[in-house]
Amino acid sequence: MSPATKGKVLLVLYKGGDHARQVKQLLGCLENELGIRDFIEKNGYELVSTDSKDPIGESEVDEHLKDAEIIITTPFFPAYITKERLAKAPKLKMCVTAGVGSDHIDLNAANEHKITVTEVTGSNVVSVSEHAVMTILDLVRNFVPAHEQAVSKGWDIAGAAKDSYDLEGKTVATVGAGRIGYRILERLVAFNPKKLYYYDYQDLPKDAIDKLNKASELFNGHGNIVERVENLEEMLGKSDVVTINAPLHEKTKGLFNKDLISKMKDGAWLVNTARGAICVAEDVAEALESGKLRGYGGDVWNVQPAPDNHPWRTMRNKFGGGNAMTPHISGTSLDAQARYSAGVQSILESYFSGKHDYRQQDVIVIDGDYATKSYGERHKMK
Ligand code: NAP
Repeated sequence: MSPATKGKVLLVLYKGGDHARQVKQLLGCLENELGIRDFIEKNGYELVSTDSKDPIGESEVDEHLKDAEIIITTPFFPAYITKERLAKAPKLKMCVTAGVGSDHIDLNAANEHKITVTEVTGSNVVSVSEHAVMTILDLVRNFVPAHEQAVSKGWDIAGAAKDSYDLEGKTVATVGAGRIGYRILERLVAFNPKKLYYYDYQDLPKDAIDKLNKASELFNGHGNIVERVENLEEMLGKSDVVTINAPLHEKTKGLFNKDLISKMKDGAWLVNTARGAICVAEDVAEALESGKLRGYGGDVWNVQPAPDNHPWRTMRNKFGGGNAMTPHISGTSLDAQARYSAGVQSILESYFSGKHDYRQQDVIVIDGDYATKSYGERHKMK
């Protein structure tokens, strides 16, 4: 660390290359550094940016963690902040996630070392919910194979239509009805679904449910479409489309395995923009190939970047479609990048000022304990 500065801020982002030069709003890449270099330097800190995060123990991240005070990472190109790494970071005071979801950080170990973990809650929830609705439509309408025909000079209408349905009249369920899950339900009302189910630890607020039912009454001529189901398997057994919007934690890791998928309706569509590790990759691929699932899509993978031989890159249903995967992009639209960059700056402002007056909903762990209230308690915080 340079002796003239107060401390070191380590920023881990993916390389943008020519794209970063073409589009300055691409703040979330190494070259554009979330737009916070001047701000950090004006506050007397040194900023070190790197994309060298692997292998653990041999990367630039490991080198700089020896004397960094703050590390900023993203879920899109995660530097895994493991127990071992935290043990070798004696000056580290705060991990900031530029985005939402800090499961790439060992939160228990952060507590042991009294390291604060913050994220920019809400910064990309619209972006992800739009992506989830798009993915649902891609799968149900069989968009990807039809598009592949269009760009490869094909015109086999029957080949695409034989696996294409309407979303109208289908039953859609979300596992997790927090900021993103609820926004997906909001957007889906316009498609006149038969029913919208949710599975969560607690009821949605009454006014949130009333809003959706009233909107359905207005748009579709029938209300009472939203219902909480307290048993996950029961909900899966009666849903045509299931979207996963719960965080990754001990209880959700590997939740969608062969056994749970077997409880889903035959030929259902499954969309996961939450975290890849909530699903067992091989079990999903097998279910798609056997026809148990008609389609699977999302943008999150259990290892990121996903290896070339990841089963989700090549899996297909029996008609050669059913795969609507993208790299981890749903929460990083340019609009979202502007919001999470501003959010990171605001967290750093609170830190540099010594006030530590963070937005309550941005604090995941602090002073050796979990600060995060359940969504039920936090929903009023946006
Ligand atoms: P949120 O507002 O905290 O909502 C998550 C909801 O899931 C909460 O109501 C939570 O309840 C509930 N939940 C927790 N465990 C559950 C379980 N086992 N079964 C059912 N519900 C459960 O979070 P959000 O902003 O909607 O984000 C959700 C997740 O999306 C994030 O954690 C992150 O992993 C992912 N995400 C992905 C991207 C992307 O780019 N793909 C971007 C942003 C977020 P409690 O609050 O009571 O625990």
